[in-house]
Amino acid sequence: MNARGVVLAGVGGQGVVLASAVLAEAALQSGYEVKQSEVHGMAQRGGAVVSHIRYGEAVASPVVPLSSADVLAGFEWAEALRWMPYLRPGGALVVDARRIVPPGACRDHRRWGVPYPPLDPTTIAGRTGEVLLIDATGIASELGNAKAANSVVMGAVSRFLDLSDAAWEKAIARFVPPRTVDLNIEAFHAGQGADTLDPADIPELGLDPLPERHYHIDVNEEWCKDCGICPSICPEFCLALDDAHRLVVVDEEACTGCRLCEVLCPDFAIRITAPVEARGGAR
Ligand code: SF4
Ligand code: SF4
Repeated sequence: MNARGVVLAGVGGQGVVLASAVLAEAALQSGYEVKQSEVHGMAQRGGAVVSHIRYGEAVASPVVPLSSADVLAGFEWAEALRWMPYLRPGGALVVDARRIVPPGACRDHRRWGVPYPPLDPTTIAGRTGEVLLIDATGIASELGNAKAANSVVMGAVSRFLDLSDAAWEKAIARFVPPRTVDLNIEAFHAGQGADTLDPADIPELGLDPLPERHYHIDVNEEWCKDCGICPSICPEFCLALDDAHRLVVVDEEACTGCRLCEVLCPDFAIRITAPVEARGGAR
């Protein structure tokens, strides 16, 4: 048979790498040659993680070419959309209805006006074969541990692959922590039977509009070295270097309180505070 290609995409902390290892092992257990490649993001900061797996009688390359994945598994909706160009025409999309907004992107949309993409498979109609939009995180939570959502997703993925349940179960038992083997196998089978969701039943993220809140930008001039980091990363252009290369606050009203400047300042020279009436739930 021609090599099968699967792309798994999600963000750090969702168990994408583990799911990829399980799929590769299940294919090995089934007697196939397997090649796998991964790109890891920043796990603790919501960085993107993607893994390609190819298996078959003989596999030359570990990378799934564009437009040739048989299955794209998205552990998060926006990541699934991002990797859509790898799915072949008629290929299956399996996706957890979970939405994770990257911390650096979620606070600046007041100015940019870029909302999270609508969680609606009709927006990609005609670009895929079957779409399975499942509540993998919800199913795993009901089984006792939301972290097993990756096994739920892989159960749904297994519906489109020619690997036996026995091979999957052996692979799961090899890679998940010993005390969670039963839970993950149960989650896997729950994914095999999971129903696709009606997007209308999924609550909106509620990102927009942001509550009106005003922040004070406090720069400690003695500590600030005018390095230029905070003006270059402020998503709202609140900060700038003037002609003398000194840091100035140019638009305090636009500050959304994201605190990227605070976090990234190497000299602890900038502080963001909410006015007294806005505190208490503001941060
Ligand atoms: S000044 Fe700092 S807290 Fe305010 S928007 Fe810019 S980076 Fe975020
Ligand atoms: S990052 Fe810190 S040191 Fe650099 S310009 Fe901003 S406040 Fe000053």
